[in-house]
Amino acid sequence: MRRWLALVLAALFCLFGCSCRTEPKAEVLFYFFDVGQGDCTLIRTKDGDVLIDAGTEDAEQLLCLRLEQLGVTELALAVFTHPDEDHIGGADGVLSQFPAREVWLNGGSMENVAGTLLLQAAERSNSDVAVVKAGMLWSLGELQLTVLYPDSSLGDGGNEDSIVLRVAFGETVAIFSGDAGAEQEQRMLKRFGEAHLDCDLYKVGHHGSNTSSSKAFLEAMTPEYAVISCGAGNSFGHPTGEVLSRLEAVGADVKRTDLLGEILFACDGDQLWFLDE
Ligand SMILES: [Zn+2]
Repeated sequence: MRRWLALVLAALFCLFGCSCRTEPKAEVLFYFFDVGQGDCTLIRTKDGDVLIDAGTEDAEQLLCLRLEQLGVTELALAVFTHPDEDHIGGADGVLSQFPAREVWLNGGSMENVAGTLLLQAAERSNSDVAVVKAGMLWSLGELQLTVLYPDSSLGDGGNEDSIVLRVAFGETVAIFSGDAGAEQEQRMLKRFGEAHLDCDLYKVGHHGSNTSSSKAFLEAMTPEYAVISCGAGNSFGHPTGEVLSRLEAVGADVKRTDLLGEILFACDGDQLWFLDE
């Protein structure tokens, strides 16, 4: 009888001991908002908020409401990977309501409606606006950002020239690839090497288009999770079957905004976990 009791107590101790040890204490949250056929990610830390892209104009109102709901009041940094409507369409509304201390651009032409409104909103809120280049480092508390692209070979500033970011927090690394293409992935591989591209979380390039997420790039990253931001039933056929196969081949657990809506990950600097709520 005593032996049974000892076994039960040992099991309970182990259960509670284990759950205490592995109880995740989120220090950084990655929100991938459902902005239809577009991109928008918020990285929340105790030291401030970083936004990567702002979705389409159609999604702007809901996005602002969501940011308000989450208690965001301002942004430490807003990165606009490239000046296409599905990435900067909501920028005007977001920057007007949530002023950004810094705004990063890729150097592409801002001479379109969304670009003009973005620059006006950034000016109204006294943001420091900068065109960034590969190799640049930036930090917010313990969150460290490295710009992986564009390098000196900037083309027309469109999809292929998207700002690509490596975001590190402790042991966790996430790569946000905008709409960068396979050729640019090759350039990043050559410049930064596998060690710097190895990651846990990958925001899949160009909404899962076949022109991005090349085999070599994925094999260098080997992400545990891959997030695809795209609209349900979009006319581009994103994500393509080929990209899904390539992601599967490197063992990535794929999460899609068109199927799940908003997607949330948390990390504590040691481990990263998907919050299924
Ligand atoms: Zn896009």
